[in-house]
Amino acid sequence: MWAGLPSARMARMDINSLLRTLPKVDELLKREDISALDRAHGRTLTLEALREALDAARDAIRAGTLAEVSADAIAGEAAARLAAKARRSLRRVINATGIVVHTNLGRSPLAESAVEAVAEVARGYSTLEYDVPSGERGSRHVHVEELICRLTGAEAAMAVNNNASAVLLGLAALSRRKEAIVSRGQLVEIGGSFRIPDIMRESGAKMIEVGTTNKTHLRDYENAITPKTGLILKVHSSNYRVVGFTEEVPIAELVALGAKHGVPVFEDQGSGVLIDLARFGLPGEPTVGASVAAGADLVSASGDKLLGGPQAGILAGTREVIAKLKKHPLARCVRLDKMTLAALEVTLRLYLDEERLLAEVPTLRMLTMPAAEVARRAGGLAGAIRDACGDVFEVATAADTSRAGGGSLPMEDIPTTVVALAPQRLSATVLEERLRLSEPAVIARIKDGRLLLDPRTLRLDEEPEVVAALVRAGRDAASQAGA
Ligand SMILES: *Cc1c(COP(=O)(O)O)cnc(C)c1O
Repeated sequence: MWAGLPSARMARMDINSLLRTLPKVDELLKREDISALDRAHGRTLTLEALREALDAARDAIRAGTLAEVSADAIAGEAAARLAAKARRSLRRVINATGIVVHTNLGRSPLAESAVEAVAEVARGYSTLEYDVPSGERGSRHVHVEELICRLTGAEAAMAVNNNASAVLLGLAALSRRKEAIVSRGQLVEIGGSFRIPDIMRESGAKMIEVGTTNKTHLRDYENAITPKTGLILKVHSSNYRVVGFTEEVPIAELVALGAKHGVPVFEDQGSGVLIDLARFGLPGEPTVGASVAAGADLVSASGDKLLGGPQAGILAGTREVIAKLKKHPLARCVRLDKMTLAALEVTLRLYLDEERLLAEVPTLRMLTMPAAEVARRAGGLAGAIRDACGDVFEVATAADTSRAGGGSLPMEDIPTTVVALAPQRLSATVLEERLRLSEPAVIARIKDGRLLLDPRTLRLDEEPEVVAALVRAGRDAASQAGA
């Protein structure tokens, strides 16, 4: 924004007199453009932005890179700084990656009816811990307990902050100061900070590893059972697969072993699958209900992976185990807030009507989107980009793969059709960056020098925004090429 001058001429100029021409903060505040920003963003941030813009100008004068002071330029710089300060840190992005449960982008988007329920309880008072018929104190567990029981067949249930805290609570309540047996093939790390051995240590349980990385037999568990055994833990390896010469003990056999020795069995199911996904051409992940039916005393799962709800940890189990968990001191530390409970209740209710579920829960809608529909969407998007951007990009559609993401269905690439853009005047890397820095940010993938947009994870109403972002990126490229 500052016009530079040759340093020889600059040297002749009086830096001090130039500094004296800088406008005062009070004068700037009287400008119409600045006072509008002041009204919109408040005095604190406006003053901060003005002072920073003036400081930058002062530094530039001293460095000899600014030879003429313009109040308009300083106001413009302050406005830009204010816009950056006022921009929310946590904000919407457009996910064009085709990774449905994208952990870095907030995992599952919520169903519209869940969003409405969140807004309603957030705006006012609610029945969070109030029993309307009796007018007495109620329990926050009631809002989802019956639904989880219905959908999983469990006797009792509760929901906590996330699956990591569900596992921690389960381990602490069932095996603190006792031994918990787990297969070496299931000592997983999820998302860098959740590692089964670490959680086990924090829960106060003593971890007893059995078997090997690729094979664990029932006799390995049986040999490890002692009077100090408090729990058998099974962890679903949701974000990787051991393939080849492998063996895992099915949950039903662990349950039988546990029953023989009076030891409870806890399965961390992970992804929160409540319905049989195989019917929709997706891999048949074991459901939470299947573990309950096999007799597991406790099953835990995430709320915001394949379940398609808010961040939460689902715990389904026997009456006795869930009662123990609800009374545990950690339960209070990991309890859910009213907004999450509202979103979870509505999401779970949608499971009572499968047609609505697949139409309204975005994660399931995207995962089960038929190949022909994705192809049609890609064709439409490609056409819109060609119409709006002309020959800035070479536009094509191509077969590629979407992914479930979030450490779920790790081996399963979902066939998709992407829009592939080969920019003519800039590199795909520069294009990717421009889309990412636009507002809202558009997150896309690069493959073989082309930028890929996967319509599977784009909402219909986001497609025009993607096209607009491409138009801006292309325009910048054109003006740079012309310059
Ligand atoms: C994802 C996952 C977790 C952690 O769940 P969060 O909801 O992210 O806390 C724990 N165990 C398994 C098997 C998982 O897949």
